[in-house]
Amino acid sequence: MSTLTNDTLASDLISPFQEILNSKSSDASTDPVAPAASASPQALPRVRAIDYLRSSPFFLVHLAALICVFLVPFKWQYVAFAVAMFYARMFAITGGYHRYFSHRSYKTSRVMQFLIALLGTTSAQKGVLWWAANHRLHHKYSDQPADIHSPLQRGFWWSHAGWIISNAHEETRWDQIPDLAKYPELRWLNKWHVLPPIALGVGIYLLCGFPAFVWGFLISTVALWHCTFFINSMAHVWGTRRYQSTDTSRNNFLLSILTMGEGWHNNHHTYMSSTRQGFFWYEIDLTYYIIKGMSLVGLTSNLRQPPLALLDAKRIKPKKQKRAAA
Ligand SMILES: [Zn+2]
Ligand SMILES: [Zn+2]
Repeated sequence: MSTLTNDTLASDLISPFQEILNSKSSDASTDPVAPAASASPQALPRVRAIDYLRSSPFFLVHLAALICVFLVPFKWQYVAFAVAMFYARMFAITGGYHRYFSHRSYKTSRVMQFLIALLGTTSAQKGVLWWAANHRLHHKYSDQPADIHSPLQRGFWWSHAGWIISNAHEETRWDQIPDLAKYPELRWLNKWHVLPPIALGVGIYLLCGFPAFVWGFLISTVALWHCTFFINSMAHVWGTRRYQSTDTSRNNFLLSILTMGEGWHNNHHTYMSSTRQGFFWYEIDLTYYIIKGMSLVGLTSNLRQPPLALLDAKRIKPKKQKRAAA
């Protein structure tokens, strides 16, 4: 966990990373999530009605998980299966949907790109292009009125799940993802995003039986939803701020364990292009370790790192304090 945990210390770090934030605009041509130069808060729809029909699978899976867990015998092997299905798909969300498709923080082959997207789609978080486009909008307008899921602007529950189950953001924002929309296989997967989770659920049921379906699909998927959503809600509310980014993002150890490294959200908002979100050795970032491991066998490449100025900003402080004390 961070040792620089309060805003007083963080404010001392403004200068070095402010330079980086300011210099980000010069990266705009290569960074798919460069902040909007002229953000228009009216650019996004503000409709907030819950779309019960389209969101019915979301509610039904919750209900089914709650009921069915009492209908099947308890076995630790079912729990282990649920955990395995949770983390396998969590990696596809964090390493795929987020760090690859939303931020292009590393490179991989076209085949691998599709396979990661396919695995991510089994998590039932809508299409990969829908997800990446909305996430880019979140970074462009972080905690401003046009941020589609800011707890600061519209409250905790809206940022957690309300924006997804409402009819405000159902369409894929193609204008945000020209670099991804050129792949027909991704457009196809995005259009038919309901098929992979259904195939996974049916497959588990047929191959492994009903208890495995309850734990490995229903419960695992509900946990996967809420742990992913925590990054949009909790990680902007609960935790510490090493860097004074222009939003409310926080670093949170517990969320990092649940989401394989996504809990270092203040680090991420400060430098979103980095593959690594745990900037220091003690900031556990399982997603990065896996992407790094994949690079060693040639499956990924060009992993982007946080700039040294951000890392040095933290290291410089204790020396200054010692000198002042002497
Ligand atoms: Zn955020
Ligand atoms: Zn992000």
